[in-house]
Amino acid sequence: MTMVSHRNVTNEDQEVYCCLRNKVVKADASHLAQYCNGCRMFRSFLPEGGIECQWEDMRASSFEVTVTDPYAEWMDNQRKDVRHSFPLDSGGAESDEALAG
Ligand code: SF4
Repeated sequence: MTMVSHRNVTNEDQEVYCCLRNKVVKADASHLAQYCNGCRMFRSFLPEGGIECQWEDMRASSFEVTVTDPYAEWMDNQRKDVRHSFPLDSGGAESDEALAG
């Protein structure tokens, strides 16, 4: 997986998606003191308002993403990748083998 910098810009309600808590949180002094302070994912505070957090993200295709909708980000992070393996035809070949061959 790739280490990705997530630039979590606060929305109009001062909220961001927090990976540590896996929820949308108010980026207020309480959250910063109680959770960001000491969080291994913390990178910096954004000048435009928000928090930069770095963590491994299998979804990302670049090393930096900017998140402006914390609720969409939360929803996207609830998806789990599932690998299916099933016969493609009566020959019994499985999907992984078919791709490799
Ligand atoms: S630094 Fe950690 S606690 Fe703070 S918002 Fe990012 S993931 Fe959450």
